Amino acid sequence: MNNQIVLAQLNGRPEIFHSLQGEGVSIGVPSVFVRCSGCNLQCRWCDTEYTWNWLGTKYIHDKDRPDHPAKHDRSAVQTRLSPGEVAKAVNLYCCDNVVFTGGEPMLQQDQLTEVARILRGTNIEYEFEVETNATILPHPEFDELITRYNVSPKLSNSGMLHSSRLIPETIAAFVQNPKAVFKFVCSEAGDEEEIAAFERDYRVPRRRILVMPEAIDQRSLEQRRSVVFELCKASGWRYTDRLHVAIFGDRRGV
Ligand code: SF4
Repeated sequence: MNNQIVLAQLNGRPEIFHSLQGEGVSIGVPSVFVRCSGCNLQCRWCDTEYTWNWLGTKYIHDKDRPDHPAKHDRSAVQTRLSPGEVAKAVNLYCCDNVVFTGGEPMLQQDQLTEVARILRGTNIEYEFEVETNATILPHPEFDELITRYNVSPKLSNSGMLHSSRLIPETIAAFVQNPKAVFKFVCSEAGDEEEIAAFERDYRVPRRRILVMPEAIDQRSLEQRRSVVFELCKASGWRYTDRLHVAIFGDRRGV
């Protein structure tokens, strides 16, 4: 088995960096981010489209311009490391919260299991969060090591087909897993009905639902955050801001 991990690459280096968790229940927690490359969805507003929107594909993204589709040269934005090399890079930081993100990190859960095992072997305090789109089930060996799943099921505003973005058995398994919280991106009128339907259909406890404004830059965040704030007040969902967009806008590796 090829156990190399495919990672996003930024400025010639794997995208493994130290920052603060920017969203969700652990917002503000110092964390090391491991950004995996590759995704099984292609959301039109994805803010990490450099992990899947390759030259030669026909995917559509909000960044596309009529004469200039927002495509990336795969060989320039991907790199591969062994689990041991990823663990070593994470270990350089004095920080015991690790966020496996992407792209869709669950596509590489076997390799990430190995990374988590190596890191726990060096420090039992390591905690691991996973940012996932809820379409792939965790294996028991992976699940055992994970502290929290930040599950982000996609709404129709993603442009994805219902059958691709919502897989009932997988979502039901995450609902049963107390380590999972559900985070939704809200961008347009009607999103709240879809979130409410999700809550009802999958019987998700309200306290485990977080909603955040869709935004890839500071301007769009400013425009949408008050609407989502009021929506959360009215519905009983938890609001989460987007620290990185608020502070850095559309910047990578921060
Ligand atoms: S699932 Fe996440 S990483 Fe994949 S395309 Fe959608 S927003 Fe981007």
